[in-house]
Amino acid sequence: MAGIVKNQLHLNGFIYYKVNSKSGRTYWICKRGKAKECSAKAITLAAAGGALTVVKGDEQSPQSHPPNREEGQAVKVVSNLKRLSQEHPGMPPAQIFRYELTAVPSGVLSQLPEREKLKKMMRRERRRDLPKNPVRLSELGAIPERFTKTLLGGNFLLFDSHEDPNSDSSNSDGENEQNRHRVIIFGTRRNLELLGRSVIWFLDGTFKVYPGHVVQIFTISGLVKRTKSSGEEEVLAAFLPSKKEEHYGQVLEEIIAAAREQQVPFAEPVRAMSDFELAILNSIKEALAVTELQCCFFHLGQSMYRKETDNLKITLSYCQVQQEGLQVAYNNPGDREVKIGSHMLLALAFIPPDEVKDVYKDLVRILPAELKPVVKYMKENYVVGTPSTRGRRRTIPAR
Ligand SMILES: [Zn+2]
Repeated sequence: MAGIVKNQLHLNGFIYYKVNSKSGRTYWICKRGKAKECSAKAITLAAAGGALTVVKGDEQSPQSHPPNREEGQAVKVVSNLKRLSQEHPGMPPAQIFRYELTAVPSGVLSQLPEREKLKKMMRRERRRDLPKNPVRLSELGAIPERFTKTLLGGNFLLFDSHEDPNSDSSNSDGENEQNRHRVIIFGTRRNLELLGRSVIWFLDGTFKVYPGHVVQIFTISGLVKRTKSSGEEEVLAAFLPSKKEEHYGQVLEEIIAAAREQQVPFAEPVRAMSDFELAILNSIKEALAVTELQCCFFHLGQSMYRKETDNLKITLSYCQVQQEGLQVAYNNPGDREVKIGSHMLLALAFIPPDEVKDVYKDLVRILPAELKPVVKYMKENYVVGTPSTRGRRRTIPAR
């Protein structure tokens, strides 16, 4: 029994390493020859059709030790594990073990490297196939082709401002400027189709799970009835460099533009739902013809208590109230002023929109001084907003 596995010759339970190849002949030495434990050699001839002829084997060049068939099988198992971890990059090594190792005889199992070492080998194999993770967004450049497609070859990258010819990055520090405004949107044609059929959109930013290179992952989900009891939720995800209106607006515009480009039947939603973020709400009003805009009060309370930061470098969310050392005052049963003040701020959500600013001004006058930073946060994010650093860009509709 002879075969070549990963540059090793497996012959009658012995493993040989390759020395060299000359005029169709391959020369091998016993695996143990490296440690001078054995001097067995072998020569093979590669015949037509991939057949292997052993010119010199363990009969002609005797081994100084008994064969170990399990060792050879173990090599095959390892190479199989590596191949599988490459083919299923999302599957944890432990799970691959469960599928692959149950049928392997114990004699072979005993010849395998330790599990931890195996896992390491599998992860290394996986990484070999992947580009290096960029430390900074500027290192990312264009998204590699294979990450722009689904497994079935469909388009997955809907928009990348890096590739956008409309992007105004021709000035001297264009690259930096471009990265500060890098917007990347992922979604399939199917996502677009279903979103285009959904009468309601849910828009939400998440700051807890995102790569440190961007400020947030902004998702848009639609709801399409599949059966009577369950809906199908379709999600488009965008990576955004800020929480500014211009970037939210850009996402909405580009999604509509992508639907047009891919000729997907697409109707804008009738209703939209998002949290109380002025920038999102404004961009919805600007880009979509929605007639109903709903906000989630829960989100507002959450975002006031636990403010997420705009800062690119800080990746953890932290508490606005907590950060300002207010939690003791907030929870002080003897003095309810801070807590009641916070609730009054939240109640701004129930004021008719055109009166919010006036009521806000009245409210600020009577709030306890401790709440000042929270008031500032509320003002910037919900009442007035932060000024945009860049003029709005409009997508020219394709004709
Ligand atoms: Zn040997």
